[in-house]
Amino acid sequence: MSKFTVKHAAVLGAGVMGAQIAAHLANAGVPVTLYDLTAPEGDRNGIVKKALAGLKKLEPAPLAQASRLGLIRPANYDDDLPALAQCDLVIEAIAERLDWKTALYERIAPHLAPHAVVASNTSGLSIETLAGALPEALRPRYLGVHFFNPPRYMRLVEVIPTRHTDVRVADQLEAWLTSRLGKGVIRALDTPNFVANRIGVFSILAALHHTERLGLPFDDVDALTGPRIGRPKSATYRTADVVGLDTLAHVIGTMREHLPDDPWHRWFQTPAWLQALIDARALGQKSGVGVYKKVGKEIQVLDPATGEYRPQAGKLSDETAAILKERDPAKRFAALAASQDPQAQFLWSLFRDTFHYAAVQLASVADNARDLDLAMRWGFGWSQGPFETWQAAGWQQVARAIATDIAAGRAMSDVALPDWALDPARTGVHTEAGSWSAREQSYKPRPALPVYQRQLYPDRVHGEARDEPGQTVWEADGVRLWNLPAQDPGIAILSLTSKNHTIGGEVLAGIQEAVARAERDFDGLVFWHSAPFAVGANLEQVYQACQAGEFDMLERMVETFQRTSLALHYATIPTVAAVQGMALGGGCEFLMHTHRRVLALESYIGLVEAGVGLIPAGAGSKQLAARAATLAAATATPNEVFPYLQPVFQNIATAQVAKSALQAVDMGYAQAHDTVVFHPDELLWVALREARAAADAGHTPPPPLRDVPVAGRTGIANFEMVLLNMREGGMISDHDYRVARSAAVALCGGEVEAGTRVDEEWLLAVERREFVALLRTPETQARIRHTLDTGKPLRN
Ligand code: NAD
Repeated sequence: MSKFTVKHAAVLGAGVMGAQIAAHLANAGVPVTLYDLTAPEGDRNGIVKKALAGLKKLEPAPLAQASRLGLIRPANYDDDLPALAQCDLVIEAIAERLDWKTALYERIAPHLAPHAVVASNTSGLSIETLAGALPEALRPRYLGVHFFNPPRYMRLVEVIPTRHTDVRVADQLEAWLTSRLGKGVIRALDTPNFVANRIGVFSILAALHHTERLGLPFDDVDALTGPRIGRPKSATYRTADVVGLDTLAHVIGTMREHLPDDPWHRWFQTPAWLQALIDARALGQKSGVGVYKKVGKEIQVLDPATGEYRPQAGKLSDETAAILKERDPAKRFAALAASQDPQAQFLWSLFRDTFHYAAVQLASVADNARDLDLAMRWGFGWSQGPFETWQAAGWQQVARAIATDIAAGRAMSDVALPDWALDPARTGVHTEAGSWSAREQSYKPRPALPVYQRQLYPDRVHGEARDEPGQTVWEADGVRLWNLPAQDPGIAILSLTSKNHTIGGEVLAGIQEAVARAERDFDGLVFWHSAPFAVGANLEQVYQACQAGEFDMLERMVETFQRTSLALHYATIPTVAAVQGMALGGGCEFLMHTHRRVLALESYIGLVEAGVGLIPAGAGSKQLAARAATLAAATATPNEVFPYLQPVFQNIATAQVAKSALQAVDMGYAQAHDTVVFHPDELLWVALREARAAADAGHTPPPPLRDVPVAGRTGIANFEMVLLNMREGGMISDHDYRVARSAAVALCGGEVEAGTRVDEEWLLAVERREFVALLRTPETQARIRHTLDTGKPLRN
């Protein structure tokens, strides 16, 4: 069978999911034809065009770069079916009705290319039944691909082959979804709601039931079921509001309708209070009122007993709070199960019933326990799936407690735990050899698809084999230099180990030392660690030094920052930054100075110093001034650098952060020839290879920066004019003005004639001087303190 390449894709259905799936395909550079019904009047592609306009407004943004919209071509089923012939992949995402989907399949089938792969994004219908509507010849290339909303951001895609699906088609699509779209793929069996929604919606139903049983307020349950137990902040009831209460009721209805034999079937009901909200069109976020509502600045929560709203509080009882602080999961679970406190009982009951349900259903919904656990992590944002949580808490102890509760009639169903779960020799479901498959009664290793060899540090479930930690070459406070001999013994890896990867004095010294060692002993250097890449300078250190009046020391620290950036820039070996998550302030300056960048799509890069009353001074302003000069050099007026500074200035003055790697290129923090990787777990693998290729190609460091034309006094005056108007108009404060003016001075190379040619040291001295001058102001110090205390910027 030939290679699977998607030169062109089609998405059928431009609704919530279809439009966003098309957007993500466009993010990946795939041209897409997006179909919907022909509009009854006006433009025949009116429905799709409206959906495309909607994409620009959606938050979080489905498009990683506004211009990607140009890759999506609107189409309708009456005029454009012949265009399907050029599509290698067709994803159907029309309304959830079997008759509508099968009718559409009959219409499109004659137009499909003989090699095209066709997939449905249905969340509840049987893939096998849907396949029945396709010509027999097409069935080997048909399967389910279940994306989660929002598809750009939710890691999970469930791939559901049918009995007829060609194994190679499913494997190729899995590899493509993983590497090209950056998704976490698990295989699901063709059962209603597949894996994540089946377990996740059950868990919501269990939470609803125990809330009512124990008479707990909704906001207390949200306080209990959020980050404190490793679940998203929106917890239970706020998640319901975000998803839409009608949608939740619909999914519950699907469970009720399609799972008549499920031992928990009697619980697949919409509670009366929820139905009352839906009847009153209080559907959650989309209608402004649901379980919660906002009244002025206050958030209120529904009291289901009275039907009234009251100010939200959301408190943990002292006893449950103390139990949740226990670090040992075995002790924590034992304490929850033993406590009489209603909140503790709630949590124990919720875990117990979810574990019970997952254990009983495992054989019917998923190939193995790892797939189920990963589905819950990637599809519902749980930090751990149910089986790994159970295993970490001590399999036997928890299994006995569940069995006791089942026998006593306390569990939501009296169906027994499966034999495998009660096996007295069992210590868990995840082992070094693989994860338990209840269907096959054996342990299954991870899939052997070559695409997974690109993931050197994949998401591992608790109990699974650990990864190769690599060989430490040198280590100091906040920094580790190491390598992976099996990958490439000649490429060193530099990782920050400081908290949140903040950059303090010790980290700066460590990076410089690491670069020197790598230059001496290695062929290349990759700067990589897990997200965030770096959230900036250690502000606490900076603040303390300000308070102590140590401004000379601060100036030296800024200089060290600059020298560190330069060390990465002028290294005799290639340096490659492999970036994911936030790369702010100093982190951004470092990556700007490496020779190349490998960026995860979800990288959020920016120079945000203005937020704390500062400007980029780790050589970032210098680098942007130099970039403007390079851009101007390619024109007939090489001295006119000002136009290239304008967008940069605006980004710095307003502390803008790129919302994707593609935007970071547009903003000048990364370059067009840098690599964007969609799956963050592939970053290191790609970066190691890029460093090797650059080394083998005979890397030479860039020449020193000299003769850089700057915008000087005229540029500063131009920026001042804009700033003065903003200050007059009350749009910015006096201190905003001061900070932005400093940024202007640094970008324009100081108070010199426009077009003056300066060198790197000059530019560095200017940005350093402006930075330290700002540090001396009480307003900047207040901003730093406020951000340290609250995590938020202070407007003063
Ligand atoms: P939606 O209602 O937003 O969009 C459905 C689209 O189908 C509309 O653009 C509509 O014009 C089109 N349509 C309606 N009747 C049609 C017909 N007879 N023939 C062709 N097109 C028709 O729905 P959605 O939420 O985007 O869901 C689409 C599919 O994705 C469904 O199968 C759903 O189960 C699945 N899904 C939804 C979500 C979610 O969170 N919304 C998540 C995963 C999967």
